Amino acid sequence: MANMKIERQAMPVQDPAVRCHNFEEVAQGYTKEQALAEASRCLHCKNKPCVGKCPVAVDIPAFIEKITEEDFEGAYQIIQKSSSLPAVCGRVCPQETQCESRCVRGVKGEPVAIGRLERFVADWHNAQSSVETASLPSNGHKVAVIGSGPAGLTCAGDLARLGYAVTVFEALHVAGGVLMYGIPEFRLPKAIVQREIDGLKAMGVRIETDMVIGKVLTIDELMEQGFEAVFIGSGAGLPRFMNIPGESLCGVYSANEFLTRINLMKAYRADSQTPIQHAKRVAVVGGGNVAMDAARCAKRLGADEVYIVYRRSEAELPARREEVEHAKEEGIVFKLLNNPVRILDDGSGNVGGMQCLKMELGEPDASGRRRPVPVEGSEFVLDVDAVIMAIGTSPNPLITSTTEGLETYRWGGIVAEEATGKTSRLGVFAGGDAVTGAATVILAMGAGKTAAKAIDFYIQKTKA
Ligand code: FAD
Ligand code: SF4
Ligand code: SF4
Repeated sequence: MANMKIERQAMPVQDPAVRCHNFEEVAQGYTKEQALAEASRCLHCKNKPCVGKCPVAVDIPAFIEKITEEDFEGAYQIIQKSSSLPAVCGRVCPQETQCESRCVRGVKGEPVAIGRLERFVADWHNAQSSVETASLPSNGHKVAVIGSGPAGLTCAGDLARLGYAVTVFEALHVAGGVLMYGIPEFRLPKAIVQREIDGLKAMGVRIETDMVIGKVLTIDELMEQGFEAVFIGSGAGLPRFMNIPGESLCGVYSANEFLTRINLMKAYRADSQTPIQHAKRVAVVGGGNVAMDAARCAKRLGADEVYIVYRRSEAELPARREEVEHAKEEGIVFKLLNNPVRILDDGSGNVGGMQCLKMELGEPDASGRRRPVPVEGSEFVLDVDAVIMAIGTSPNPLITSTTEGLETYRWGGIVAEEATGKTSRLGVFAGGDAVTGAATVILAMGAGKTAAKAIDFYIQKTKA
């Protein structure tokens, strides 16, 4: 019987005044008492509306019931059947638009905090157990996975469990994709991702870093080396720029470059070898999670003023609500309904300000959102010494341009069947951001799972 009197349990967080000077995790996780109280709010609805909105259909009421029984390992085992990265998804899934958006408790009040409970269970499991060295029986077949983000890691793990010899080829010097180089430590501690990677290695998955497929080796060469199928999970890491004057000045970064220097190469440490400008007044252009992450990192690097410059209004901000609130608490200033038109030179090739135009919202455009329209004569200069562009990314064309017969969309994404990940090249599968464009961790993970099943079917049918 659900407890209707208890309110949604607040997440304990680091004090904003303290956390904006460190890179430690902001949200600190539920205590056991909070998890039990939150789990007692679930109505265990028979038709499970929440499950229908989870892209991998985690059996939410079942795992929450196990929490109420204090069987946390039982809860973990239920989640694990559908999600291979629960500690990650519990932290970064946009639950408010997915599972929690359909929670019946949300109709008249606040939804059950499904993501926070998922995180609690995964953290509990990780604290109780160490990475096991499981020796799995081999089925004698070899598969190559390109990219070690959530799509590639999930595909590799599922195939390894089926007995495949899997090699993951990763372009960067560290595995993990956006989970390692993009999402900052204060939202997703890297030790959590590393644990997942160590688990895959313990299962026998080989991870070869510094291997840029399309340059060091092509897909054809991988197949000549005896890989019977290839999964492409190379993400969408190519940054977009606005093509406005001044974008090549010193002090203009893509969010990807800025975040990679900080997350992967620890630019915030005194002993880091990575050059990064510790600017005092920073403008971040964009309104998504990437923009919030870049702004909050700039603040932690010591900027006095950090602005989010976004051309629509607060209602249209694509970032998760929680990230927007956290950014505001940390003193990030939102310059909404503003659009940059030129980045100014300070006279020595560095950023010396950003010229913007004020905007107002007109009629809805093709995306259904109201179109921002410039307000005549509203130009002004924002006094900044660094600009970070966070206006989106697309797939890097390196793989598609070096692989014959791989069909792509005009915007660069790889064409792949949704139900299988099959591409137009026999034996080549793809999934995650490389196919959909920039999306979410859970969707990439789901695509990796789908493709692993299809690769197994393909190899067993054609090669066994
Ligand atoms: P990626 O994670 O991009 O991994 C692709 C990997 O392939 C990379 O490691 C790349 O180096 C490698 N690669 C690329 N080309 C090659 C090549 N030629 N050869 C070998 N390797 C190659 N999603 C959420 O759900 N919640 C969030 O809060 C959230 N925040 C985000 C914050 C930031 C800053 C960013 C950038 C993204 C965020 N996302 C978030 C989106 C999410 O991280 C991505 O949708 C997800 O990581 C996509 O997974 P993927 O495996 O397809 O690709
Ligand atoms: Fe919700 Fe994500 Fe967990 Fe699914 S995986 S239940 S969407 S937090
Ligand atoms: Fe529990 Fe909400 Fe799902 Fe109902 S919709 S089972 S209350 S989490």
